[in-house]
Formats: sequence, structure tokens, C-alpha cells
Amino acid sequence: MTGAESAREDADFHIRFWGVRGTIACPGPEYMRYGGNTSCIEVRCGKRLIVLDAGTGLRPLGAVLEKNGPIKAEILLTHTHLDHVAGLPFFLPMFKPGNTIRMGAGHLLQQGMTLKEVVERTMQPPLFPIPLEALEADLSFHDFDVGHTIKLGNHVKVRTAPLNHPNGATGYRVEYGGRSVCYVTDTEHVEGRLDEAILELIDGCDIFIYDATYTDDEYPDHRGWGHSTWQQGARLADAAGVANYVVFHHAPEHTDNMMDQISDSVRRVRGASVVAREGLILRP
Ligand SMILES: [Zn+2]
Ligand SMILES: [Zn+2]
Repeated sequence: MTGAESAREDADFHIRFWGVRGTIACPGPEYMRYGGNTSCIEVRCGKRLIVLDAGTGLRPLGAVLEKNGPIKAEILLTHTHLDHVAGLPFFLPMFKPGNTIRMGAGHLLQQGMTLKEVVERTMQPPLFPIPLEALEADLSFHDFDVGHTIKLGNHVKVRTAPLNHPNGATGYRVEYGGRSVCYVTDTEHVEGRLDEAILELIDGCDIFIYDATYTDDEYPDHRGWGHSTWQQGARLADAAGVANYVVFHHAPEHTDNMMDQISDSVRRVRGASVVAREGLILRP
């Protein structure tokens, strides 16, 4: 690699959506265009690989990573509800020696648990045949208190903030080369109010990904379920001076045709917006 190629690689900052669905994976013909896999986003900051959430989208990401030799990845979890960890047992790089994978979460310490214990519980017979200690990658776990800033090295900084969700959740802001991506799911808003912790986290960011499970019309039937609406995301994006707003964590009931309608509505309200779909690549 020449010096110029290496400099270009260092400057590259992009994200790719591998799973955009919330609650449960949705296979089938009504989910072909936006995708049925649950939350998983690949973030590339130069040579660093960060994976935001380990939903079922993690499996196809792992299959691609496998082809390109040993990997070093940081998996940051918003929380450990099933739709955000269901891909972990099927993440091929965990089964291969030479790979280094560190997982982090910010919601468990306050509940007297560690991430390692929770993952061990999930990957244990009779729920799953292969226990954690049999995996051959170099695996490590990192519990932090939400609010903490994670310095990953290579000039990558990740800020965190608490979200309003049953059993807790963590919002992330990944900063690299003067640009930023915010990942804010799963979280419930209070009607008529903007969440101060979220506003502070997303202030002036380049890309803001938000839990837009419902529409404002659907929300009253789901009060207390821990999720928000695409309209609330647009209000937060406007108030925080966000450049691009991404609608994410689509409800299982929202088929491709419904997502097309939501996409039209979001763009009418806020031009610089996009509905997340599998395969979408964005550059902050
Ligand atoms: Zn979720
Ligand atoms: Zn959840």
C-alpha cells in the first residue's frame, strides 16, 4: 500500500446497515426492500471496525468479514434485549482463532450484572449448543457506566448517554476525523418534551440514527413499550442541528409498502432524512 492509499484509508469514515428492524426478525416477501434483520450497523473509522448492536444482521456481516482474514472488532451494544443480541451466536469470526473481538455495554453494571454473564447465559445449552469458552477468537468484555466516554485508539472516540428503555439502554456518538455518527435506539420519549440527554449527545452531529418504531398516530397504543416515533426523531434532529436524520428500528408490522409511505412523509417534514434499509451505506 502506498502512503497516499494508506492516508485515504485512514480518512475513510462510513457506516453500513446490516439490520434495521426492531423487536423481531421479519423474513418474507413483505420485507424484501427494507430488510427483515434486526439491529446491526458496521462503522468503519479508518482501520477501526465498530459494530453497533448484534441483532440478526450480525450474521451476514460476519460472513463477509470471514472472507477477509483476521479481524479486530469492537461490538458496542445499546442493550441486551434479544433483537439486539440474537446474531451473536451466529457471528462466524467468534469461532475462529486469530480474531480479536471486544464487546461493550453500559446498562448492566447498575443492575449488578456483567455483559460476560449475560452473553454466557444466552450461549449455553440447552439454549445454544456451543458454550462461550469453546469459542476460539480472542474475546473480551467491557462493562462501563453509561455517560462514560470510550477512547478506542486511532483517534476514535465514543461518547455515551442513557436512553429511556425497560432494563436500560445506551445511546452512542462515534467521533472520528471531526465527523460524527449518533446511534440512539431503543428509547421512549415523553410527549411534548425533547429528551435533554439525547439532545446533548446528538448536538450538531452529521448522522443521527433514531428509534422510529412507530408513527405518532400508532404511539398511544404502545405507551410504556420503550420506543419512539419518526416524528419525534425529526423534532430532535431539528432542535439539535443534526445534518442527516435516519429512521431506524422499524416495527415488524411496517411492511415495505408502509415503509415507502413513512419515507415519503419523513422527507416532506425534513428533507435531509432517510429511512434505513439493509445495505444502505452512509458517509458522515
Ligand atoms: Zn430493539
Ligand atoms: Zn429493547
